[in-house]
Amino acid sequence: MALVLTNSLSKKKEPFVPLHSPMVKMYVCGPTVYNFVHIGNARVFVFYDVVERYLKYIGYQVERVMNFTDVDDKIIIKATEEKTDSHTVSERYIEAFLTDMISLGVTPPKVAPKVTDHIPEIIKLIEGLIANSSAYVAKDGEVFFSIRNFKTYGKLSGKNIDDLISGARVQPDEKKKDPLDFSLWKPQKFPTEPGWDSPWGKGRPGWHIECSAMSMKYLGESFDIHGGGMDLIHPHHENEIAQSEAFTNKPFAKYWIHSNMLTFNAEKMSKSIGNIMLTRDFIKKYSAELLRFFLLSGHYRSTIDYSEQHIRDVQSALHRFYTALHKAEITIQMPKVLALKPSPEEEKVTQFGKTFQGRWKEAMDEDLNTAKVIGLVFEYVRLLNAYIDKKGFKPTSLTQEICQDFVTSFKSLSEILNILGESPSVFLLGLKQSVLDDRGIKKEDLVQKIKLRTEARTQKNFALSDTIRNELLSQGIELRDFTDGTDWDIVFKS
Ligand SMILES: [Zn+2]
Repeated sequence: MALVLTNSLSKKKEPFVPLHSPMVKMYVCGPTVYNFVHIGNARVFVFYDVVERYLKYIGYQVERVMNFTDVDDKIIIKATEEKTDSHTVSERYIEAFLTDMISLGVTPPKVAPKVTDHIPEIIKLIEGLIANSSAYVAKDGEVFFSIRNFKTYGKLSGKNIDDLISGARVQPDEKKKDPLDFSLWKPQKFPTEPGWDSPWGKGRPGWHIECSAMSMKYLGESFDIHGGGMDLIHPHHENEIAQSEAFTNKPFAKYWIHSNMLTFNAEKMSKSIGNIMLTRDFIKKYSAELLRFFLLSGHYRSTIDYSEQHIRDVQSALHRFYTALHKAEITIQMPKVLALKPSPEEEKVTQFGKTFQGRWKEAMDEDLNTAKVIGLVFEYVRLLNAYIDKKGFKPTSLTQEICQDFVTSFKSLSEILNILGESPSVFLLGLKQSVLDDRGIKKEDLVQKIKLRTEARTQKNFALSDTIRNELLSQGIELRDFTDGTDWDIVFKS
């Protein structure tokens, strides 16, 4: 099966056929740099990182461009509050964004253009739109795009102009010919605002025009994929299509792929509600791996809800996966006996292992269904555990192959999702520590209790030994006794 994607433009699943295979050109709307990115913003960038990794895996060459909106009202407001200039604010948050993305294991885009470096290209585009009557200049020098002159306006959101007008509750503006006409060039209001000379006086570009100018500069007038969050469909992406196609008279992007929102306890994540979790805070509290796993655990077109319980479930899943990997790695090293005939458990896990790669690839081809891929990982782990955790388990010559396949399969999948690729012992150590912190348990206290229990056991005080064991179990810590000592592990309650 070949790759199929849901195209927001046709509202259908379509086979993916690039314009100039094997090259795939892709544009993703980047951040407006006035603040740190939150985990809802991060979802788009992690998703597109996986899109690029997967396209390369199936043999394409990928050029991904992501812009920085470094001139905007929000940046100007922030600069005014801080008594500094827009440039200082935007450079600080570009730096912070890049740092966060590196921590998250997101491959940097090939080109990451800034609006302020592309003013001449933007002006040229606006001049062309005025020349072919797609745009007009208001008295004060503001330039508007005329939506009525673009016959297919609304094709991305699937709404006609009148529906959009009533839905958007746009205020009438005497400068505009039509309430949905949007600004391409804004005149400078105060001398302190960032401004550039233009044929319409000093000013700055509107938001939408930047993405048309920069995507076409780096990827050409028509390219393969345009992406971003679903909240950008209207007006941002609708307006990008109108501007670009009115200018070139050619189709703009072939596939529009939108990822859904992240909600916070079922509410929209928003600064005004105060329910924002910053990417860097999340990584500090848990880990980058946990965030990637969480963001990929749902299909990109579905919402994902952030809640304490959901995070605990993700921790539990990763704990389970890495524990299985750890066990597989250890089992590979163990002495084996010759197996003449596979046991039923060996048969099952071997069969699954052989089809695993084909199955997850099929799930990815099916509209990049990372949720389904993770489901397959669960199944593989379940079968491996059923095999090596079975009472009386002794490694055989078949075990070697089974465990090696398991480890190798995880490695090849981790190249696409960029999860499950860490050293299991290192990952589990970090995870256990973060769970202890979360539950307010000090590691010194835990070590002390284990020591006390060992002493009690030596003195055959089994009552005390059991009390300590049960007390720890009630805190979600399980003790495991071996001949050379006692180890502990986390128990996740579901
Ligand atoms: Zn954009």
